[in-house]
Amino acid sequence: MNILKDKKVAIVGGGPGGLTLARLLQQKGVTVTVYERDANKHIRQQGATLDLHHDSGLAALVAANLQEEFTQSFRPGADRIRIVNGQGEVFYSEHEHTNKPILDFNSPYSRPEIDRGPLRDMLIDSLTEGTVIWDCKFTEMKPCEDGWELFFENGNSAYADLVVAADGGNSKVRKYVTSIQPVYSGCTIVEGNVYNAAQNAPKLWKLTQGGKVFVLGNGKTLWLSAKGDGTLNAYTTTPEAEDWVTTAGIDFNDIDQVKAWFVSRYEGWGDQWLEIFEHDDTCFIPRPQYHFPEDQSWETQSNVTLLGDAAHRTPPSGEGVNQAMLDALVLTDALTNGQFATLHDALIHYEKDVLVRGKATTIEALEFSAMIQQEDALDRMLAFFADPL
Ligand SMILES: Cc1cc2nc3c(=O)[nH]c(=O)nc-3n(C[C@H](O)[C@H](O)[C@H](O)COP(=O)(O)OP(=O)(O)OC[C@H]3O[C@@H](n4cnc5c(N)ncnc54)[C@H](O)[C@@H]3O)c2cc1C
Repeated sequence: MNILKDKKVAIVGGGPGGLTLARLLQQKGVTVTVYERDANKHIRQQGATLDLHHDSGLAALVAANLQEEFTQSFRPGADRIRIVNGQGEVFYSEHEHTNKPILDFNSPYSRPEIDRGPLRDMLIDSLTEGTVIWDCKFTEMKPCEDGWELFFENGNSAYADLVVAADGGNSKVRKYVTSIQPVYSGCTIVEGNVYNAAQNAPKLWKLTQGGKVFVLGNGKTLWLSAKGDGTLNAYTTTPEAEDWVTTAGIDFNDIDQVKAWFVSRYEGWGDQWLEIFEHDDTCFIPRPQYHFPEDQSWETQSNVTLLGDAAHRTPPSGEGVNQAMLDALVLTDALTNGQFATLHDALIHYEKDVLVRGKATTIEALEFSAMIQQEDALDRMLAFFADPL
């Protein structure tokens, strides 16, 4: 039974989840359009590199038949990790020796890294020309026939029989599915990108050796990762009040103010980390970390559903992108495997899976988030890496 015959699917949001879904559906002959708020595909992608896992992100890429493209775009060695304390002493390093395979789509030990930009480009290039409509910020939608009329900030509108919310943790579509609100996790990230880091933060760039550095000490963390374009991505995680971003009195556009906060908040740490604050073009973005309640549920609808962070946002734990891409795989299967008589039945099956997985990854992410705030987080992290699976 072809439940999407003569139907239009609208995906709101062209992140990794939405684009993977578009590719998988298009392979099955479904008429699909992605509405993305970014002005064009060349917008610089913020964020650390992403490691994909064999049973989720990589499995979706295999189903999307993009192994060859991924093999060209991933960054061998970027998955290598160093774990250090606040004084920069190295306690664990995968650069000297590691048993990780460089790339194996089927191995739990292989967690190849790809930057957000190349991942997005690879997925966009796999779509039929014109599938992604840029500069289309979703604002609202209204019931229309059996589907929805979607409205965008630029004044355009479009009809779809099925709307998939893939517009991230602050989804504007989510409220058409559920009124369940996100919960503050207790932690706030301050993320900065040092461009041309070989010149602008040479010692830290060297420390990464093209991979990742986890710095842990006194219940605080700093995560560094080297990106393929020469950018050093750095982000802090500290326990802060929910309204800290607005009440702390820090102008996050002023690098000296962010540096002054770091110096006092990371008291006892060495000053090698201050290289992050030496160049004026480094921009900082504070990101309070929210999650949806682990036991959330709602009544499934027949013409709108949620995917990725819009369904199950959590603080970073290495699973977000992977779960978004796995959602795309599970949803495509439910919509196109011919086993369901109606869209509603297919979405019930999909959302059941999403809620069960979302619960597990939320619990895991919150445990991870609590763990890295402990005084002995360094020892715990080292113990984890001694036995990672
Ligand atoms: C600092 C940090 C580090 C992280 N590190 C990792 C990691 O190492 N590994 C990992 O797996 N995950 C990581 N994550 C989580 C990961 O980024 C997300 O889980 C993942 O990107 C979710 O994918 P998505 O497609 O659901 O949403 P997103 O990636 O958020 O994509 C949403 C898309 O929707 C668009 N959009 C938003 N609103 C609208 C609108 N109104 N109209 C139209 N378009 C809209 C956005 O522009 C974007 O393109 C990290 C997150 C943070 C903040």
